[in-house]
Order: sequence, then structure tokens, then C-alpha cells
Amino acid sequence: MAEAPLILWFRRDLRLADNPMLAEAAATGRPLIPVFILDPETEALGAAPKWRLGLGIEAFAAALERAGSRLILRRGPALEVLVALAGETGASGVHWSRLCEPSWRKRDEGVKAGLRQAGIDAESHAGHTIFEPWEVETGQGGFYRVYTPFWKAVKDRPVAAALSAPKTLGVAGSWPRSEKLADWDLGRAMNRGAAVVVPHAVVGEAAASDRLARFLDEAIDRYKDERDRPAAPVTSGLSENLTYGEISSRTVWHAGLRARAEGRAGAEKFLQELVWREFAWHLLYHTPEIASRNWRQDWDAFPWRRDNKDAERWRQGMTGEPFVDAAMRELFVTGTMHNRARLIAGSYLTKHLLTHWRVGQAWFEDCLIDWDPASNALGWQWVAGSGPDASPYFRIFNPETQAEKFDPDGAYRSRFVAELSGNPGRDALSYFEAVPQGWGLAPDQCYPRPVVGLAEGRERALAAYGQRNG
Ligand code: FAD
Repeated sequence: MAEAPLILWFRRDLRLADNPMLAEAAATGRPLIPVFILDPETEALGAAPKWRLGLGIEAFAAALERAGSRLILRRGPALEVLVALAGETGASGVHWSRLCEPSWRKRDEGVKAGLRQAGIDAESHAGHTIFEPWEVETGQGGFYRVYTPFWKAVKDRPVAAALSAPKTLGVAGSWPRSEKLADWDLGRAMNRGAAVVVPHAVVGEAAASDRLARFLDEAIDRYKDERDRPAAPVTSGLSENLTYGEISSRTVWHAGLRARAEGRAGAEKFLQELVWREFAWHLLYHTPEIASRNWRQDWDAFPWRRDNKDAERWRQGMTGEPFVDAAMRELFVTGTMHNRARLIAGSYLTKHLLTHWRVGQAWFEDCLIDWDPASNALGWQWVAGSGPDASPYFRIFNPETQAEKFDPDGAYRSRFVAELSGNPGRDALSYFEAVPQGWGLAPDQCYPRPVVGLAEGRERALAAYGQRNG
């Protein structure tokens, strides 16, 4: 009798190469049934990440077809779908790549227990991060709370070579029923601006691989010195692909190591940045509350404002602070935001506007096509001052001096803020197509006066900080 198939439950590992789960399953020679499930956790994604996920699924399904396989699409709670699929196909086991986001982890633990109860094997695999969060321990056996010692602990660790894509993928005699991706309408909430964002998205495994190659060829040498300049970014842009697993972090790590060995300037810095992603997942695993509560509990007494009118102007890119507004508009136009701009926009919201970091976290979760629950949570807590290894509260970024330093010729600000230019370019204008019509924004409007004076906002934030300590 033919061997029972294995179900491969793909989530954020939409790739054939260096996918330990896929490699291990393919090596068994058994028929494989790749599936993507639109479960409640996936339904709950924000507008932009959900839309972008749909593009990733489409590209991955095409890649599987080219490899002689197929991606089955099913909707429903994961355990129900998997048990039903195993029943229909006679599959004896389900495999997936582990994820440490708290609600996904809870789901996966339930799925594992439920499958085993139903007599179906369940196996999770590494692959989302380079280092499993529990594999990196301090000398005392705990987890790391500070980035630099974490970096020192991992930087010279041996990391296994990346795996090639399997040569063949076992196929069952007949394929189970699949739903249609178009019927899922994953872009529904992005109808507002998907057409503007689409030229900026770099989708799928092949494109991610090209993106890495281009970064290594053209930009890594300038990375160390110029990575903070948002006008002509020299960064890799790979966060978008790492989010959906279109390239493995291990592949990127080895590319960085090779570049370092070749003496390429910027390679070490690039590896360090990649380790920030590892650190974020390490912290999310060990302190899941980082995603929802002040990591430092003494911040619970801080008089942050909940959502408010000023925060709405921040979301709209209408604060009257050009660097902040350029950042917020970049988000709408491209679906991403340069790291320096995230820091400035985040600092402005939490400090000058005294608004809770969770307001910003939620907005990024809805708008970023590279939304990553770990890096987003850490980024916001870092910028607000409430997180592990955070920037000290009194270090309040001044958007004007930041602009002088990182956007000296104003190219970034005029690229995205139409009102600042006599002859606005395509990106500045397309912002007005991408935003909700209900905002009533138009390129010929007057640029607003600042929501708050920079000195006044800074004083207010410092006073609030003093009260907290008082
Ligand atoms: P590169 O500079 O090319 O770096 C290579 C890779 O290293 C990135 O792709 C990313 O995986 C990792 N990396 C770089 N910087 C960081 C960092 N500060 N923290 C964690 N990982 C990093 N990153 C996300 O991927 N998703 C998010 O939702 C996210 N939200 C953020 C929110 C705030 C408030 C802040 C301050 C930062 C956030 N970041 C987030 C981190 C960072 O801004 C992005 O990873 C970076 O801008 C991605 O651009 P890149 O791929 O060109 O990075």
C-alpha cells in the first residue's frame, strides 16, 4: 500500500528553499499536501499585511505548481480544517514551521494536542528565525533583556548551511478540493490604496532572492554610513520578504557572513541589524506581554493619552512637522517606512504628542506590508522608553534636527509631502489617492501649522516623565 501523505501547513514560510519543514517532509518521499488556511488568526491581520499576504500566497502557489505540486486553500479554524483534510486524504501527519507570536503559539499548541488526540502526527520545525528563542541563554540560564550581550552571544555561533529547495515533491494520486484565493478577498480592507502600494511590493521567493543579490551587489558597501538616510535608501528592504518567509533569515545571515569575509564595508552592521529581528522574537517568546503591555511595569503610571485628535493628524501625515508627515505618507504610499523615519514618527507620537505607543503600534499593524509582531512591538516600546533596552525617555528626537542630519537636502520630505514642493512628484501626489476618501485630503490644500511646537511638546513630555518619577 502507498505510504500515507503528509500535510504541510504553510503560514509564514512561503518558500521552497531553506525550509526545514519542507525539506524534511520531502526527504520521506511520501506524497505531500501543502495547505494554507484562512483561520481566524489570519482573518485578524491588519489591512496591508493581509493584502500583502494574499500576494505572497498567490506567488507561492505558482512556485509550487512549477515544482509539480499545488497549494490547497481552506478556510476555517486550523484544527478543524486539518483534521478534515487528513480524513479526506488519509494523511497521517501534519508539519509546520514554528511561530512564537503569543496568539499563534496558543493556536499551534491547541492544534498539536488536537491532532494527536485524533491519532494524527503533528510536528513543528525551526525556520522562522536563525536561532530558536530558547537556544540563546545568558550565563545564568535566563533570557537576554539587552541587545548588545545578545548580539555577542550569537554573532560567532555556528549556523547550519541553508538547505536547497527539494528536487522533487511527492504528489498524491488525487488532489483534495481547494478554495479560490480570489474568493477570500484578502485585499478587501486595502481597496483604499492597494493600487498605489502595488508597484512598491516585491513579492515571492525569486524576487526576494534577487532583492538580496541586488543589495549585496549595489548597496552593502554604503550600508554602514548611509543606512539612516531615508531619501535614497541603501537598506535591503528584506523585512517585507522575511515577514512572509519568502526568504529565510538563515539565507540572509549566510549572505551577510560571506560579505563580511570578503571585507565588504557594512556587512557587520547588516548582520547586527538582522540580529535585532532575532532579539525581537527572543523577547516576544520569553515575554509575550511585550506585544500588549509596558515591558517595564513602572511605565504603567505614565500619563499617556489614549487615542486623540492629534494622533489622527499623525496618522494622516498632517502634523505640520515635515519629517514626521513624510514618514506617515511613505507608509501609505509604499506600505513600508524607513527605519529612521519609524524612529522619528514613533518618538513624535509618544513624546511630543504624549500618546500611548499602542496607538502607533496598532496603526503600523494595519498599514505595514512588512508588519512583524515581534519587531513592531519591540520598536514601539524601544522608541517610547517603556521597553527592554529602550532609548532613555529624555532622548526625544527633534524632527527638525533629525531632518538636518538625515535628510539635509529635503529630498525625502519633498518626495512624500506635496504641499512642500511647487512641483510635487508622483509619490507625493499618489498619497492622496491612497488615503481614505473620508479624510478629505487634497494636494492643493495648505500645509497645516504644527500640532504642537517642538519645544513645547518636548517640555510637556519631560514634565510628564518627571511626574512619573515624582
Ligand atoms: P535592513 O536595514 O536592510 O536590515 C536587514 C533586516 O534586519 C531587516 O529586513 C529586518 O529583518 C532586520 N532589522 C533591521 N532593523 C531592525 C530593527 N530595528 N528591529 C528589528 N529588526 C530589524 N520591522 C519589521 O520587520 N516589521 C515591523 O513591523 C517593524 N515595526 C517597527 C516599528 C518601529 C516603531 C520601529 C522603530 C521599527 C520597526 N521595525 C519593524 C524595524 C525596522 O524599522 C525594519 O525592520 C526595517 O526598517 C526594515 O527595512 P530593511 O529590510 O530595509 O532593513
